[in-house]
Amino acid sequence: MKFDVVIVGAGPAGLAAAYKLASAGFKVVVLERGREPGAKELYGGRIYAYWLDKYLPEFRKDAPVDRWVRRERVSFLTEDKALTIETAVVEKEKTSFVVPLVSFVSWMAKLAQNAGAKIVTETPVDILVKDEKGRITGVQSGPDVLQADYVVDAEGVNRLLLERAGIVKKLEPELVAVGVKEVLKFENKKTLEERLGLGEDEGLAWAIAGYPTEYLPGGGFIYTYKDALALGVVVYMRNWEKLKTPVYDLAEKLRLHPYMAPLVKGASLQEYGGHMTPVAGINMAPPRFYYDGLLIAGDAAGFLLHTGVLIRGVDFAVASGVLAAEAIKEARSPSAEDLAVYEKKLRSSFILPQLEKFRKADRLLSDESLFRDLALLSTEAAYSYFNIDENHRTLFEAVREASKKTSISLVKLMINMIKMVRNL
Ligand SMILES: Cc1cc2nc3c(=O)[nH]c(=O)nc-3n(C[C@H](O)[C@H](O)[C@H](O)COP(=O)(O)OP(=O)(O)OC[C@H]3O[C@@H](n4cnc5c(N)ncnc54)[C@H](O)[C@@H]3O)c2cc1C
Repeated sequence: MKFDVVIVGAGPAGLAAAYKLASAGFKVVVLERGREPGAKELYGGRIYAYWLDKYLPEFRKDAPVDRWVRRERVSFLTEDKALTIETAVVEKEKTSFVVPLVSFVSWMAKLAQNAGAKIVTETPVDILVKDEKGRITGVQSGPDVLQADYVVDAEGVNRLLLERAGIVKKLEPELVAVGVKEVLKFENKKTLEERLGLGEDEGLAWAIAGYPTEYLPGGGFIYTYKDALALGVVVYMRNWEKLKTPVYDLAEKLRLHPYMAPLVKGASLQEYGGHMTPVAGINMAPPRFYYDGLLIAGDAAGFLLHTGVLIRGVDFAVASGVLAAEAIKEARSPSAEDLAVYEKKLRSSFILPQLEKFRKADRLLSDESLFRDLALLSTEAAYSYFNIDENHRTLFEAVREASKKTSISLVKLMINMIKMVRNL
């Protein structure tokens, strides 16, 4: 059987491409190894809306949204201290929302199917099939070969197909982090709102540095769904051996921290999972995003922006899927020469410019002293400032005292902070 386009992976990238291509009359099939679209996926919890408005405006009409984010919280956390900064958006702006990824992906799958795309689940693709000239002409799953004029690789971060095709090298631990996450369900949405200090239907995105990763690069997160919250930890794979706690126990350890435990008391564990994420972003991009017969979109292409506090993958995945579809629509043939238009589109969109701008973020975030120093010193200084004893300290005295107590150099911290302000 021959299709115009075969898409590997029913994630946000693959489904966006499928929807746009099917809408333009292409015969499209999406092959997904999971039981259903989204079944194999895991993320933190928040999707940014700004670029969706441009690339998938349909989402405003009927995509599932649990809560629009109105509060951003950042905490530095140690064993016995915490310092939290919060920004609240009182205006009813709708710039990012929390929703389980599986719900959003199921909605996208319906959109693609209604436009005429075929989605075949429980079908892992084993290899990208090439002809004698090296052009990708289809995919193979088990004994079955599916021919197509174009293949879109949207297989996500693992990108085994690209590795087998000789396009990328084996994934190095330096390039990825692993996230583990629990979903904790409350008795009802009101209880969740009261515990987290939220107004009715307000959403919260919370990044937590220091303790969750045992002061190694990465951090913890909390996102509020309707009557549940996602609580998890992302830790760089290169640091696994330095952790005293097994990675799979990190989320539980954060949940049990005295600062967190009262917030989630009584909530029941509904889900638990783990997933890799391409934190190196553009630094792990394949040599090109287009080859004869092939385009690469989403996480597989390294389209992820991570700044320690913010993580954006879904809006990049959706936009790159849409641009891959546009490139196929415009290309006169599946030759790499004609498909080069995809890279032009990536360059003139937000995707490559924004990823380039944050190119140094990954290296900076890998610095082991960064979050350790900030978490230990800031919490200690705050404690010292608010704790009145025989001495009422100025802010400067509190910081100096904290620096002495933690043996963290203020000069080094300032240098790191300048780097952070410039690159994150
Ligand atoms: C812990 C964590 C937290 C995150 N938090 C956020 C967040 O809050 N906000 C945000 O925007 N992003 C977040 N991300 C990133 C986001 O999840 C990804 O960037 C996004 O899902 C990428 O979409 P994709 O379509 O490229 O890949 P994926 O969503 O990974 O989809 C790929 C699909 O391909 C399928 N597949 C893979 N190989 C094959 C094969 N050989 N054959 C058939 N099917 C295959 C998979 O089963 C999967 O369904 C987070 C990621 C992690 C791990």
